Amino acid sequence: MYRLRLRTSLLVAALLALVAIPAAAQSGQTISLTVDATQAPLKIVRTHMTLAVKTGPLTLYYPKWIPGEYGPDGPIGNVTGLKFAANGKTIPWTRDTLDVFTFHVNIPTAVDQLEVSFDYIEPNSSGFATASSSATDKLVVINWNQNVLYPAGTPAEQLSYQTKLMLPPGWKFGTALAVQAQSADDVIFKPVSLVRLVDSPVIAGQYFRSFDLTPPGEPIHHQIDVVADSEIALNMSPLVQKQMTNLVAESGKLFGARHYREYHFLLTLSDYVAHFGLEHHESNDSRLPERALISSDASLTLGGLLAHEFAHSWNGKYRRPANLTVPYYQAPMETDLLWGYEGLTDYVGPLLAVRSGLWTPEIYREYLASVAASLGPGRPGRTWRPLVDTATGVPGVRGGGGWTNWRRGSDYYDEGDLLWLEVATIIHRESRGQKTIDDFCHAFHGGTNNGPEVKPYTFADLVRILNDIVPFDWTSFLQEKLNSTSNDAPVGGIENGGWKVVYNEEPLHLWGRRNNVGDAYSIGLQISANGDVSDSMVGSPAFNAGITSGMKVVGVNGRVYTHELLDDAIAASKNTSKQITLLVVDDDYFKTCVIEYHGGERYPHLVRDGAKPDYLDELIKPHAGS
Ligand SMILES: [Zn+2]
Repeated sequence: MYRLRLRTSLLVAALLALVAIPAAAQSGQTISLTVDATQAPLKIVRTHMTLAVKTGPLTLYYPKWIPGEYGPDGPIGNVTGLKFAANGKTIPWTRDTLDVFTFHVNIPTAVDQLEVSFDYIEPNSSGFATASSSATDKLVVINWNQNVLYPAGTPAEQLSYQTKLMLPPGWKFGTALAVQAQSADDVIFKPVSLVRLVDSPVIAGQYFRSFDLTPPGEPIHHQIDVVADSEIALNMSPLVQKQMTNLVAESGKLFGARHYREYHFLLTLSDYVAHFGLEHHESNDSRLPERALISSDASLTLGGLLAHEFAHSWNGKYRRPANLTVPYYQAPMETDLLWGYEGLTDYVGPLLAVRSGLWTPEIYREYLASVAASLGPGRPGRTWRPLVDTATGVPGVRGGGGWTNWRRGSDYYDEGDLLWLEVATIIHRESRGQKTIDDFCHAFHGGTNNGPEVKPYTFADLVRILNDIVPFDWTSFLQEKLNSTSNDAPVGGIENGGWKVVYNEEPLHLWGRRNNVGDAYSIGLQISANGDVSDSMVGSPAFNAGITSGMKVVGVNGRVYTHELLDDAIAASKNTSKQITLLVVDDDYFKTCVIEYHGGERYPHLVRDGAKPDYLDELIKPHAGS
């Protein structure tokens, strides 16, 4: 508690220092922004801005800390062709020597309007989340933070932007922004604050469809807007549309209120954009492979991604950790409460997916089993790095580059998921069945719908609200979970729910979000169909044989590698004293690695514990009566 308070006060001091920067931009004005995406297929999006200024020094920022990405990773390296001008004359600029996102200009006398123009080059693949590839020949995703500068000295909430978007001929678009006027391929949006603009991306493309997802009797409109690289990829089945509508209904039951005027799922389907989801108050920017909607796994995939991003409208956007709530995009974020922001979302997203029918109860249980198994035993990342540090380290320690478990860069998702399941079962137990996690969500995420707003919270606020639901030593419980370095997964919630994690030879019936995990529980390798090793569990039989992340397996027991041959060798291992011999390429050297393993195939599953009532099943039943 003390530590949190100290850190918050340090942040406030840092913010005050930033706000104190002198600026010559006129406050209260509406900045005119034109984003020309007509050349998006050529991977270039052009910005032109006009803002009122006063004579003297002026500082402008390119957004640095991106909401939902919680890192200083605004894609400044893709900004090119930057020009400042007034009265037809170029004005020289300089970049700040301490912060590459900051630009300085000197406004000459008798100048009251500044013209700013630059190009944003759409990256091919590098970059994190929205800073990765976002445009193809047939579609584009516009995240406005990439196409805007803003003057220093005014909170983003108080800067107003009048935005015009120019699209290639015939392209259609989806967004939560309200349209003021539209002519041919130009769209003018109603003026909004910079906060609302950055929070409201646009998807646009040649192939576009919208589907209504508003449940019967629901007063607030919901829809999914889809752009894809082909017409056929837009074909959402009536069943999936019904399940997505159930998702909306279930969200109303779980949270008891909405905090948006209307909601748009913005879904981009392409094999040539980055695949991820980013949450917003009134929409989410979710990106999947081109055929995701028309594949037989559509419900599983949408349930995994869209339910999570949708739940963020309440948990992360409306209720947001206080030290992630910053007045503008230059202000650093502190991420130590991401086990609340992401961890609770990672719990309620799948909960909503199964309640709405996107997931079956069996998939949900297999998912929980895979989450538990990813944390231990045999996954030693947890023995050096407590949950809270996986959250605190995010701005500089995201992971990537292999060694996934040993780094455990994003375990605040998975471990947060199990943490909040345990919270749900404790609420049930301590209240003797009178209260549920839904009561907590009503208290924490409910309230009045005033449209998008932020209600920041601290660790103390969370504990207080949990205690209001049912008295318990929540502080000690959470501190123990946040700081544990146990070798075993935190499976208290699964066990309180009447289930337990077991390992057997039956493969996991879950091939949604987690792929290539089959051999991780036996010899300790995460390995792709072509033999690339994405992770080798430190201390596992494969690791002890000399195989680590980045190597490539090319042979199994004297034959050319296939995943099937490796699985056969693992299955046969328990009936023989012979080792498994893998031929491995390490850089350009061949290596023969001999794995001492005789356990056969091992996959995690949940099985019922007959000694306890099945509360897990109770939690995941449909609540909206659809
Ligand atoms: Zn999330």
